[in-house]
Order: sequence, then C-alpha cells, then structure tokens
Amino acid sequence: MSSFLSLGEIMVELAPAQDGLLKQGFAGDTFNTAWYARRLLPPEWSVSYGTVIGQDAISDDMADFIRAQGLDTDALARHPERTVGLYMISLKDGERSFSYWRGQSAAKTLADDPNRLAAMLKGRRNIHFSGITLAILPPKARSTFCAALASARAQGAHVSFDTNLRPKLWGSIDAMRDGLTLGASVADTVLPSFDEEQSIFPDQTPRDTVTRYARGGATTVVVKNGSAPATAWHTTEGTVQVTPPSVAQVTDSTAAGDSFAAGFLAARALGQSLQQATEQAATLASNVIQHRGALAPALFEGESK
Ligand code: ADP
Repeated sequence: MSSFLSLGEIMVELAPAQDGLLKQGFAGDTFNTAWYARRLLPPEWSVSYGTVIGQDAISDDMADFIRAQGLDTDALARHPERTVGLYMISLKDGERSFSYWRGQSAAKTLADDPNRLAAMLKGRRNIHFSGITLAILPPKARSTFCAALASARAQGAHVSFDTNLRPKLWGSIDAMRDGLTLGASVADTVLPSFDEEQSIFPDQTPRDTVTRYARGGATTVVVKNGSAPATAWHTTEGTVQVTPPSVAQVTDSTAAGDSFAAGFLAARALGQSLQQATEQAATLASNVIQHRGALAPALFEGESK
C-alpha cells in the first residue's frame, strides 16, 4: 500500500492575538512534514500522523484538527491519563520566544508499548521521524523506538530522519550526539542541516556530513544549508548540489526544514531523481518561508483536486 507515516509530537500552540488574547492552534515539526506530504502525494496515498494523545477534550480537538487537515489518524494512540503538550509564544519587541509545557505529554509514551508501536508501523511504505521525536522519549523508549524502525526498515519500509536539533530537549550535548547517531543509523534517508551538524560533530564541509551519515548506514543524505546550496547524495546516483531559489525577504522561517523534507520525500516516493527531489524540496521551502506560520495552504490553492 502507498503510505506515508510521520511520527512525533504535535502540541497545542497559544499565540498572541489582539487585545491580550491568545489564539489556539496545533503544531509540530513532524506534523508539518506530514501536512506538506499530504498535499504533494496523490490522493490514493494514505498519509498518516502517528503519536499519542490523551482522552480529554483538547485531545479530541487535536484529532479532529489532524483529520480536518486531510491526514489519516490510524496511527493515533490514546493515553488513559496524560494529555497533549502545550507551548506559548510571547512577543517582545518583535522577537518571539517560546515557553513549553510538555514534560508529561502523552507523546512521550509513543514507544512504551512495543506491540502497539509495531502495529503502528506494520505495512507502511514510508516512515518519517525527527530528532525531536527521539529527544522527547525517555532513553529506554528511544532504543525501543529505533529498534522498531530498524525492523520496519528490514521489512522494506523506507525510513527517513530529519535531525532537527533541539539542545534543550536532550539532557546533554553527548546525549544529543549519541541520539542523533542512533536515529540516523536506522534511517535510509537522513536530512541534516549543516550549521547544526557543524556545531556538534567535527564536520568541516557538507560533504563530511554526508560521509559520516553514509558510514552510519544511510543510503541517501541531504545536507541543507540555509540559502546556500543543499548537498544531496545517494549510493548509486552520486552527489548533486542544488542552489535554493533566492528569496528577497524571509517572512517566517518556521517549517523551512519540515517542508523541505516533505518536498524531498514525496518526490522520491514517486520515483523522481535525486536532482528533481532536491529541487522540489528547495522550491517548496523557499515558498514556505515567504509565508507567515508553519503551514501555507495558499501554496496549494487552485490546484485541481
Ligand atoms: P532547517 O530549517 O532544517 O534548519 P535550513 O535553515 O538549512 O534547515 O533550511 C531548510 C531549507 O530551506 C534550505 O535547504 C533551503 O532550501 C530553504 N531556505 C532556508 N533559508 C533560505 C533562504 N534564506 N533563502 C532560500 N531558501 C532558504
């Protein structure tokens, strides 16, 4: 079956609105990737978001939201006591800062039950996760999660990993380095950002990042580098470099990497070349950063249904 499953955490977002009010939304890196993948893959593909939510009203709203965005909820599990995480955006002098309440979120139990996890992954063609998916899991659950992905990969799933560094979520730099290396070791496709990799690994060039993840077992590595060329490598297709379309004014860089991942993975899932897939990824990301917010429905309006 043609299916794309993205796994991680989606949270309640509270953002400043007029008159001191807060506007409620839902957001998360792997959710953003699923959202874009849904719009890039043909209707006959199933695109699912997988996580654990609660059984309370806000969790019901979240499930409704995920469904309303066109995603399948067949990999959505419910925790009997916990609820979903929450973050709040504060605006001061035009700068956004974030406060999080996610320490006890239901999503942290994603790998607590290996049988449930195996059932979620069973039969999926593409499985996507990120460094945030791993960072929120307790260490033992992280190993369970990666073992389950390795097993899905051995059974033919294409596993992709967006490294998405969040130093605050990992206990230490060493834990983050080990966690990312473990995550990448179970993935076919690894999507790192060069500035982040350079900050914790001894990589001098994007090529070094490719080499390191290739040695770790990846068959495709795409190293993003902001407005500089992305370096994409595949075992048999070799290396290509794609210069992102130039963007005069970045409105909001949220979801640049998440949409890039969707653009690349959807193209590859549909059999496009490394060059074509990297171009689609860079074009989508350059459009997304010219829109406010993570999701840019305007980019897909007017397309034939
Ligand atoms: P991440 O958001 O994952 O840290 P990057 O910042 O490298 O990764 O951005 C992801 C992709 O978004 C880039 O590879 C590029 O295609 C696009 N992008 C980011 N910043 C710019 C920019 N200033 N101009 C054009 N494209 C950009």
